[in-house]
Amino acid sequence: MRPQELYPIFKDIESIKGVGAKTAKLLEKLGIKKVKDLLWHLPSSFIDRRNSPQLIFARENSIITIKVEILEHIEPKSKRSPYKVIATDGTSNITISFFKGSSNYIKDSLPIGQERVISGKIEKYGSELQMTHPDYIVLPEKINEIMTIEPVYPLTQGLSNRVLLKHLRNGLKDTPIFNEWQDEAFLVKKNWHSFNESLNKAHNPLSENDVIPNSTYRERLAYDELLANQLALALVRNQVKQNSGRIIKGDGNLRRTLLEKLSFELTGAQKRVLKEIGDDMASNNRMLRLLQGDVGSGKTIVALFTMLNAIECGFQSAIMAPTDILSTQHYNNFKEILNNINVTVELLTGKTKGKKRQEILSKLANGEIDIIIGTHALFQESVDFKDLACVVIDEQHRFGVHQRLSLTEKGKKADILVMTATPIPRTLTLTSYGDMESSKIDELPKGRKPVITKVMNINKAHELIQAIQRKIDIGEQIYWVCPLVEESEKLDLAAAEDRYEILKRSFGNKVGLVHGKMKAKEKDAVMQEFEQGKKSILVATTVIEVGVNVPNATIMIIEHAERFGLSQLHQLRGRIKRGSNQGNCILLYSNPLTENGRARLEAIKNTEDGFIIAEEDLKLRGAGEILGAKQSGFPDFLLADMNYHSGLLATAYKDAKFILSKDPELKTERGEALRTLLYLFEKDEVIKTYKAG
Ligand code: ADP
Ligand code: MG
Repeated sequence: MRPQELYPIFKDIESIKGVGAKTAKLLEKLGIKKVKDLLWHLPSSFIDRRNSPQLIFARENSIITIKVEILEHIEPKSKRSPYKVIATDGTSNITISFFKGSSNYIKDSLPIGQERVISGKIEKYGSELQMTHPDYIVLPEKINEIMTIEPVYPLTQGLSNRVLLKHLRNGLKDTPIFNEWQDEAFLVKKNWHSFNESLNKAHNPLSENDVIPNSTYRERLAYDELLANQLALALVRNQVKQNSGRIIKGDGNLRRTLLEKLSFELTGAQKRVLKEIGDDMASNNRMLRLLQGDVGSGKTIVALFTMLNAIECGFQSAIMAPTDILSTQHYNNFKEILNNINVTVELLTGKTKGKKRQEILSKLANGEIDIIIGTHALFQESVDFKDLACVVIDEQHRFGVHQRLSLTEKGKKADILVMTATPIPRTLTLTSYGDMESSKIDELPKGRKPVITKVMNINKAHELIQAIQRKIDIGEQIYWVCPLVEESEKLDLAAAEDRYEILKRSFGNKVGLVHGKMKAKEKDAVMQEFEQGKKSILVATTVIEVGVNVPNATIMIIEHAERFGLSQLHQLRGRIKRGSNQGNCILLYSNPLTENGRARLEAIKNTEDGFIIAEEDLKLRGAGEILGAKQSGFPDFLLADMNYHSGLLATAYKDAKFILSKDPELKTERGEALRTLLYLFEKDEVIKTYKAG
């Protein structure tokens, strides 16, 4: 349960006085739903309103705050000219102009003969001083309220900085004073302040130094978030390790049979990785290992060998994949590979219903199924195993920490192998996995040719038709990917459907379409036709992103490639590296191309090395392309910015480990405070499971 002291800032944003439904909607566009979200919304710059020169000395284009006396109102002569108010500070006149707003409002706020303080930008027309739409108009006694440094926030249309600031100030007032969760000596060493002070100062910058990511205040906040992240991961890991494992060391019987059946030899990297995994399993400790390998590097077969080891010992294995399509593909793939080998494989997804489901569940419980493949349906409560000893999670970043944990709860001692497709930079491995052991397949199977990647304007898309026809004539297949962007799902779906129709004009029923809105059955049917070669072109929204394997597919055309994240483009391109034929990847972009978009296309064109791409991705996402960040699937930090704070991550990692070695259950006074920290950054799930375990 979330500690009570956190309640005020976990309330809906509308609980702040003055925030109504309309403002709430605008704030939601900025990702702000609860009070704490507003607190995490840090300024991107500031306006200094402390400058208060006499008007004759005021510099053009500077922001000033001055007291003036109102002399005269001049109503506009035409609709297009402004309403003008003439005022003076005794040294010079100034024209205050309004292009919009009711004249009544203006008359009320700037009454002739009275004094007002105005704040805004000074403009000069000839010798005439002007201020258009002052940011502030207040009574003279309130001058100190505005003669300050005003933080400027990322905004959305319809929401002014003033309004956001006002609500934020109220939110800050509601923030409870927390007991310190960081080590005091560490704070002193870093020259950091308390959480509350840091948050306050981050929202009340006094200079440029206070709005940059490595300001002392922001660093402290970033560190809080990183520590919460690392602590959560360390707790999960501790929990997994707590249940000591058992020795799993099969006689190699099944694996030998499989090896003989395979049409290829394992690569050196696959062999090495299997040895690392085998050693883990043979030890008394529970395995918790990350398997990294670029798309097409052959992780699936490694997973299969790993599972067979457990089955040779009479145990069960499970493999969990993020989508129905991928689970089904694994299933078909395994069925085929294991044909004539005495291993029972079943598929369990959310779509497995009724009798079939009951049958699978009872077979799982009595041990008649050796390998179960499935989506997250696998870790729903009703699923029991006879003896689950090995869990493979084919995740490609899709599962959260607690999801990983809940499946392993099914097999208290199960060894866990997490497979991930894109090589992850070290810093990000930490954020996603903490300190899991890791193995890398850093070698592609023999005979894979590099993919030829071209970048092309979408205007030229029609030129592709002939090239596509040539490929179809020699039996090769084509993916045509259209982006799916959450915010405009409908539009993008329409785009994919349009493309499908256009291609059908040239290629008739050789074209198939899959998208996220289709029922699983329909999707599977189309995918199957494509796999079997009945369709030559598969038009798809990003559903094919994850793991599909069609060795005949040699062309990958990505429409609006500039909208995709780097690692996503890399993944997609990996789809056409399955067979031995030359792969061609065509990145279609449309103007205007942002600098970041251009850089991404450039990067993907220049290299196929997943590690370089991952590093590049990290760099580019720093430039703030939200889309890239969202789609690349790395944990989204709110206060920490990996471009600036990745150094702190390593510290947080060590810190978390140290904390738990001294206080494994977070029972000390600091431990209590750290629990609050975990809740503050919404690691509730982890704490819950941890308590139960
Ligand atoms: P990923 O690492 O992306 O999951 P897969 O396991 O799907 O890659 O493997 C891609 C393709 O390469 C599959 O068709 C698989 O059968 C094949 N493959 C795997 N290992 C080898 C190997 N050592 N030699 C040749 N082909 C291999
Ligand atoms: Mg795979």
